Amino acid sequence: MKRVYSAENAFDAQIIRDHLEHHGIAAAVHGNMLTGAIGELPMDTRPSVWIEDPDLYERARDLIGRFENARADGKQWTCRHCGETNEPAFEICWACAADRET
Ligand SMILES: [Zn+2]
Repeated sequence: MKRVYSAENAFDAQIIRDHLEHHGIAAAVHGNMLTGAIGELPMDTRPSVWIEDPDLYERARDLIGRFENARADGKQWTCRHCGETNEPAFEICWACAADRET
């Protein structure tokens, strides 16, 4: 299993999971069950999307990136810490959690 996406919420995670499955990549949402207790948990307990086959990571990220680009008009940004490409809505790097401005 490998994490490919950190979602804003359970709904967002489900959309991404369905998108990957639609393209033949087996994926699962982790952290989804925490949503019932929201408000009692730290803000960083976001649901995340994981793929079963790590070899499909690049393809999965590409699919997610295209999906997000089609959905949002904002620009992606590149993490200065690890070089990962992040979606415009993210305030921190999805891969290493570094702040966007650092
Ligand atoms: Zn990073």
